[in-house]
Amino acid sequence: MDDETFRLRVSEMAEFISNYLSTVKERRVFPDVEPGYLKSLLPVQAPTTSETLESIMKDVENKILPGMTHWQHPSFHAYFPAGNSYPSILASLLSDGLGCVGFSWAASPAMTELETVMVDWLGRMMGLPNELLPYTKGCTGGGVLQGSASECTLVCMLAARTKALQKLRKVYPHKDDYDLLPKLVAYFSEEAHSSVEKAANIAFVKRRKLPTDKHYAFRGKTLRKAMEQDEKSGLVPFFVCGTIGTTSSCACDNLDELGETCSANGRDVWFHVDGAYGGNALICPEFRYLLRGFQYVTSFNVNPNKWLQVNFDCSVMWVRDKNALIDALTVNPAYLQHDNDDRVIDYRNWTISLSRRFRALKLWFVIRMYGVEGLQQFVRSHVRLAQLFETLVRQDPLFEIVGDVVFGLVCFRVKGQDKLTEALLKRINTSGEAHMISTRLDDKFVIRFAVCHPQATEDHITQSWNIIRHHAYHTSFPKDGAVEKLLQN
Ligand code: PLP
Repeated sequence: MDDETFRLRVSEMAEFISNYLSTVKERRVFPDVEPGYLKSLLPVQAPTTSETLESIMKDVENKILPGMTHWQHPSFHAYFPAGNSYPSILASLLSDGLGCVGFSWAASPAMTELETVMVDWLGRMMGLPNELLPYTKGCTGGGVLQGSASECTLVCMLAARTKALQKLRKVYPHKDDYDLLPKLVAYFSEEAHSSVEKAANIAFVKRRKLPTDKHYAFRGKTLRKAMEQDEKSGLVPFFVCGTIGTTSSCACDNLDELGETCSANGRDVWFHVDGAYGGNALICPEFRYLLRGFQYVTSFNVNPNKWLQVNFDCSVMWVRDKNALIDALTVNPAYLQHDNDDRVIDYRNWTISLSRRFRALKLWFVIRMYGVEGLQQFVRSHVRLAQLFETLVRQDPLFEIVGDVVFGLVCFRVKGQDKLTEALLKRINTSGEAHMISTRLDDKFVIRFAVCHPQATEDHITQSWNIIRHHAYHTSFPKDGAVEKLLQN
């Protein structure tokens, strides 16, 4: 493709994307395809000679889009929002066009330096303690952009593991890391995201998955009891993960109590806070009460790609002591060293992968083009719409709300046996009119309703509510025996 054709194609692609987004509401939100549907539609072998973009785009329309779940559909309420905005798409395009790989400062200085400024900007927007921010004099804090919240938790757990083993080696000088590793224990709640457990699997450490209170929050007393029990058996607590906005119900753990427990009785336990979705709300001052306990926080992550209009991937992570991270992750071959490596940040030592994309551009474009106020309004609009949905549910005697509505997520169910809610969800999703997922809270089957659309309105929410009620009243619960029949479908 030559330059002239590229220019033309980019404007055609922009046209395609904006048409897609403005008409996506006319599509089924959830596809009606069977597993393996695509294989039979595509050739067995790759083409030997070149094909035209027209023929590829025809296949996108006819073969790919029918198999997509449309995350930008106004009736998509599953998972959490997938951030999407034109400023972010433009930044992604620019990043791809610049075609640089910024693993070290020397590999592309502006990539590293913009990243540091962006984690500082966002940290200030959220009112984070200065000790976590990169430019605070006399502090060892800093931040980095990762590809996902899962990576943030993993690298923090690995850093905590290295730090704990270094300390243990002083107590047991004749033992090596492999002897000492079985002593380490990580703690998180049953409501923590599965990525925390995955990190413990990868780090090969013992873990305690602890119960929550009636608001699904992880509390200090539960943590303290578990730690004390383990300490009596000679084990060493080394890592705790708290959450702002759990995946199932958006509960917020009591960070003050957890953090206090991490440092009580001479403990020096790494306290990580996962705010993948809910943490983004900290840009609004009315949510800063969630910072209570941050004086204890060792590391914290949020995903602007969930709730700040930034496209996947963009996960921001702050750490109180960047050296702990660097100690755990640095390998320094000659071919990656450069003249300034003792004066600058080399983010390759803060992440699992070496190669790194220019993610900071997305944050920079989005923050500048919406402004802090624009992003605050966006977060507030989702919270307000979730409250509207909660009110609608509460007004209907068939349904009940489960848990608290704090951010843009509402958990609800049909009163009575689980099978009623299960049948309802199945009907909604197979209709293709709206899309939601389920979770279990207090061992009850619950539907999660997340406000996701970037320009969600009251009309969108009432429309989705009408879809839910239609399936509840007209399909799921007609006279006797119908629910059982429905479940057999
Ligand atoms: N933490 C929480 C609280 C989440 O809700 C999620 C995903 O929804 C994750 C972590 C994992 O996020 P990622 O896909 O960025 O790894």
